[in-house]
Amino acid sequence: MTALQESTEVATVAAIQLDDVVKEYLSHGEVVQAVKGVSLSIAEGEFFSLLGPSGCGKTTTMRMIAGFEEPSRGLVRLYGNDVTNVPPNKRDVNMVFQSYALFPHMNVWDNVAFGLRQRKTPDAEVRRRVGEMLEIVDLTGREKRRPREMSGGQQQRVALARALVNNPRALLLDEPLGALDLKLRQAMQIELKRIQREVGITFVYVTHDQSEALTMSDRIAVMNDGLVEQLAGPREIYEAPASAFVAGFIGTSNLLAGTLTGGVLEVGGGRVLVPGHDDGEITVTVRPEKITISTEESTGDVSAVPGTVSEVVYLGTYNSYAVRLADGAEVTVFQQNAVDASTTAERGDSVWLSWQPQHSYAIGR
Ligand code: ADP
Ligand code: MG
Repeated sequence: MTALQESTEVATVAAIQLDDVVKEYLSHGEVVQAVKGVSLSIAEGEFFSLLGPSGCGKTTTMRMIAGFEEPSRGLVRLYGNDVTNVPPNKRDVNMVFQSYALFPHMNVWDNVAFGLRQRKTPDAEVRRRVGEMLEIVDLTGREKRRPREMSGGQQQRVALARALVNNPRALLLDEPLGALDLKLRQAMQIELKRIQREVGITFVYVTHDQSEALTMSDRIAVMNDGLVEQLAGPREIYEAPASAFVAGFIGTSNLLAGTLTGGVLEVGGGRVLVPGHDDGEITVTVRPEKITISTEESTGDVSAVPGTVSEVVYLGTYNSYAVRLADGAEVTVFQQNAVDASTTAERGDSVWLSWQPQHSYAIGR
């Protein structure tokens, strides 16, 4: 094989691959399936998130990638090699947990240098690599601090540097920002993304926070009850949720159900256009910010449904309306408070809701 062939070969091999991985635990004499058959493939250099509610199997999936947990069935591959039965310290991945457990009696420098010194790395190289890492996580000048003299966000960055200094090919992060307050968490999200871009390695990120996953990820696997319900980029997950679960878990979404006839769904005295879909029973989602609220019926090639405003909530940059349809369904609408905002619907007003056909998504169930 020539060098060129070899490099294209390497580029197409997934950094991390799970083949129908199942994890069963025995709990009080009963078999519990924490992970029920997950298959996915993560590319080298990707920022990949596992997103889902507590108990859906995210940590178990990560622990199988790291090697702390052996699958009951299925295969784990790293860079094409089957590592299903390979112990954690023999895998090219490093894991950072929410409780980052820095050594409290050691200063920042010694915390980060710890792994390298354990492996008898020459002093000059330790100095170079620790210095580099502290620069990347923006902690140059704080080398002498102890963990307790630092903020939560700074401690988190020390933990990151400590993992990255070992040059792993992939970093696994299990809810690493869970202990931080909202503002700090948001700042760290941007910081993490920057660090990932700078070091260029694969990040696998576990979170139950949908906005966190949408902000940082190249792709997201949305998990529910031990299974992946959808695997796609943030925009697709948000705009075109594959299931009612995904639609509900990622932000606010409206679900409209009925029988599709000739590409039209009749809903509460109005019409919802669903192009390119077979007729029959169907559930459609539409995001609140895609809907326009108006006192007049929109004509033309749009979905248009009448209703009555049941609630208006002022939220600063936008208003949230709850609109009750004739069939009893309630639809949420977000309208931006732009300078030219034309809508000023009040509680009790009769209104028309309209949206473009491409904003209706048919979902599986
Ligand atoms: P998540 O990280 O998404 O919150 P986990 O992977 O920790 O979910 O857990 C998934 C499911 O497996 C949960 O129902 C949990 O109670 C169960 N579970 C996890 N670890 C064990 C274990 N060691 N023994 C028995 N059940 C477990
Ligand atoms: Mg967990």
